[in-house]
Amino acid sequence: MILPIVAYGDPVLRKKCMEIPKGYPKLEELLEGMWETMYNAKGVGLAAPQVGVPLRLFLVDTTPFADDEELSADEKNQLDGFKKVFINATIEEEGGEEWTFNEGCLSIPDVREDVKRKDTVTISYVDENFKTHKETFDGLIARVVQHEYDHIEGILFTDKLSPLKKRMLKGRLNNISKGKIHVDYRMRFPNMKKGR
Ligand SMILES: [Zn+2]
Repeated sequence: MILPIVAYGDPVLRKKCMEIPKGYPKLEELLEGMWETMYNAKGVGLAAPQVGVPLRLFLVDTTPFADDEELSADEKNQLDGFKKVFINATIEEEGGEEWTFNEGCLSIPDVREDVKRKDTVTISYVDENFKTHKETFDGLIARVVQHEYDHIEGILFTDKLSPLKKRMLKGRLNNISKGKIHVDYRMRFPNMKKGR
């Protein structure tokens, strides 16, 4: 089932999310809905708070990034089919040089801004079978993991912009929270006036 994606301004996007206990009853159903919702919106990642569920869970599938002509064959191979569920994740370490990438977010449609992040991330998490993993990622995979991880900590990429950029974006972000935006996937807007 395609779930409505929660728009900028909803308090659920600001929650530090809770751990998911083993045997959580609706996990399978939630995962299914989140994958369908992410693919429908042409995203490469989706976090549970973005569908209104404040749990430490996010999905990543970087396959669409593999089409980028500027990438090397190696990079394309890494991105193609990188599909994972991250539950109860903790970032252990970030390292390498900071680099800039033009990020977007399904909860903040039509806004894209350059964001600086470190190149590598080491993260521990459990998968959908509650098997424990600790892995290090770099490049675009690290970038998507860092962006999604921020969501389960209540952080959005727009928080990382300069004060000037934030001021410039304020009006657009306000309009998004009111639903004054064209978007071709299902969304839920926190400040939309009722009865329209
Ligand atoms: Zn996002």
